[in-house]
Amino acid sequence: MPRLSTFADANASFEQAEFVLLGVPFDRTTSFRPGARFGPDAIRHHSWNFESYDLETGIDLSEIPVHDLGNTEEFGSATEMADSVREEVRPIHAAGKFPIVLGGDHACAPPSVEAYPESAPTLGVLYLDAHMDFRSSYLGDPRSHGCSSRRMLEKVGAKNIVVLGVRSVSREEMDDNRSVGMSYITAHEIARDGIQTTVRKALDLLKTPRLYISLDIDAIDPAYAPATGTPEPFGLTPRDVKYIIGEAAPRLAGLDIMEVAPDYDRGNTSALAARLVREAIARVTQARRGR
Ligand code: MN
Ligand code: MN
Repeated sequence: MPRLSTFADANASFEQAEFVLLGVPFDRTTSFRPGARFGPDAIRHHSWNFESYDLETGIDLSEIPVHDLGNTEEFGSATEMADSVREEVRPIHAAGKFPIVLGGDHACAPPSVEAYPESAPTLGVLYLDAHMDFRSSYLGDPRSHGCSSRRMLEKVGAKNIVVLGVRSVSREEMDDNRSVGMSYITAHEIARDGIQTTVRKALDLLKTPRLYISLDIDAIDPAYAPATGTPEPFGLTPRDVKYIIGEAAPRLAGLDIMEVAPDYDRGNTSALAARLVREAIARVTQARRGR
């Protein structure tokens, strides 16, 4: 088996799989420091660090059918990238499988949500990010990573997206959102109120039968996740994000992890991302078995 080119324990065929991984090695809309294009393979590499047995759920991940599609081709523009990601993710959603998309910069995430079928139960988005990503266009590109919550909102509707962990926003984004009304809970509110209260509030806001988590790794504090393009102090802890995944699991229909730029640390950010992927697989499996 090509050990380092697939995610750990991704041994199933596409047909058998309940979870399907896709890497998108694209970072051309990065606004500060580049390198998220190397995220998918670094996350795969570090996924082999962990035991397949999950202590908390008692689930052995080697027994869960996971397929790794590998990476998308590399592209010129963000628009071409988005077309290709939609094309790859559409059959995953359509078959009722659980997509896990590894970026890449955050521009790689909206097409994964856009690929969700209109005929499926309504989708809500938990958007974990230090930033609001709410510009209608950034540096002339509406597909920039600075516009990703806005692009998702156009698919799922303003009341079906909640931004968690935000602590950096432009005045223009705040002004724009006054008329749109996208919900957000800042990292400072989360620190003040606690993660349990916050998640309860967020999940109450999202009435949809299905949820999707879009995790910009910069939602997590740079002390834990320094390898990212636009690190921002005063972030969430890895445990906060672990808790969010666990609470969302019964309704969860997809996940992406974006903006891991592995060259800026010695592997800890990639390992954290890999561990969160495994957490999601274990928790979603546990929730499904409990039904
Ligand atoms: Mn982002
Ligand atoms: Mn961000």
